[in-house]
Amino acid sequence: MTGAARTAAIRTDTVRTAAARTGTVRTAIVGGGLAGAALAWRLTELGLKPTLFTSEQGRRTDATQASGGLLRGFETDPARARAAAESLAELRASPLLRGWADYRELDSTVVLPPGTDPAALHTVLRLLDELLPGSAELRQLPDLKPFLDLPPGSVAVVERQAGYLSPAALRDALLAQAVRAGATVRTDPVLRVLPEGTVRTAGGATAEYDTVVLATGPWTPGLLAAWGLPGGGLRSKRIQYTLGRGTPPGLGAFVDETCGLYGRPAGPGRFLLGLPTDEWDVDPAAPRTDADLARRVAELAAQRLGLDSWPGPDAVTVAAADCYAPAGGLRLRACLPGAALLSFTGGTGGAAKYALLAARSAAAAVFSGETPDEDLPS
Ligand SMILES: Cc1cc2nc3c(=O)[nH]c(=O)nc-3n(C[C@H](O)[C@H](O)[C@H](O)COP(=O)(O)OP(=O)(O)OC[C@H]3O[C@@H](n4cnc5c(N)ncnc54)[C@H](O)[C@@H]3O)c2cc1C
Repeated sequence: MTGAARTAAIRTDTVRTAAARTGTVRTAIVGGGLAGAALAWRLTELGLKPTLFTSEQGRRTDATQASGGLLRGFETDPARARAAAESLAELRASPLLRGWADYRELDSTVVLPPGTDPAALHTVLRLLDELLPGSAELRQLPDLKPFLDLPPGSVAVVERQAGYLSPAALRDALLAQAVRAGATVRTDPVLRVLPEGTVRTAGGATAEYDTVVLATGPWTPGLLAAWGLPGGGLRSKRIQYTLGRGTPPGLGAFVDETCGLYGRPAGPGRFLLGLPTDEWDVDPAAPRTDADLARRVAELAAQRLGLDSWPGPDAVTVAAADCYAPAGGLRLRACLPGAALLSFTGGTGGAAKYALLAARSAAAAVFSGETPDEDLPS
């Protein structure tokens, strides 16, 4: 950083801290997906009145609209497991949040390949037992129905307190609640944010903020590049699944890490199934579906779940992009050291699970004026 930039950064930090102390920090959020909506809601819980800018066109193809909404506590990484389990515990404990999110409780099964480190597995299982008591248990072959053809030595973590939600319904409810609590939502896409906090919109408005948070999901890497700012390793990636007719008996939500297949029930007689893609740096405004990938999903549905006629003639394949981070998932990151511009994205294909918790930490950091010092772009 140059001397002038360092002086500007120190001044910005001082202004922000003073504003937070008096509760008058001017905060803008760009992006009204689940991340932006949850952050706006959490900020209003702390007494702030953020302005959230959203794009009606973007909402139609965003990650939140397309998301499968699978929820569980188990992740192989303990930090992610803690975030997912704490978020799930908060949702399950609140009838209001459950209603807003249209939460459906189901068993969740994660099948793990042979050779999964048993010590790491037990660390996560102990953590789950603390946060969601009695929910998770370890199962071994042959007690892994209805999965077929699993490699010998596969194990599974089965959770009873898991399920799925509607991220789009939760987003809408959180935004409505944030507005009731004093937030402003402007359907006016942002054209440019300057690092010191100036926001310019497509509608011609210009305003200054103490903190601007880019919660623009898979649009974020393109926006940062267009504004000449470092991307911090954030990238967009396509996600695709198919909704089809046919259900594996007794199976709730699942991820089979021995082949990548994941899914959940999707209404009477229907099941959602998908496989990860490897398509990076995609345009979130123009998601395309990949017929070859959909065919591979149907082959695995037959081979691994015995669903010979899934997906059937009225199948629907859904594709959208999410923003992936090199480490850490959905969290607040500085776009430049000391700048007023932060990002809150990096959901890495799984932030519906822990958006509530991530937004709580991000709101606390914005409120206190703390600049996140992790993951600064190099
Ligand atoms: C197909 C799919 C399936 C998924 N399934 C699961 C799952 O089963 N479980 C799970 O936990 N997670 C899942 N995820 C991940 C999870 O849904 C996402 O991580 C989460 O929804 C991301 O929310 P977001 O707000 O960061 O991004 P988005 O929902 O993409 O929102 C970004 C918003 O920013 C707006 N925007 C962009 N540019 C501008 C601008 N210049 N001005 C104003 N607004 C702008 C867009 O209009 C958009 O509304 C899935 C994701 C996808 C794509």
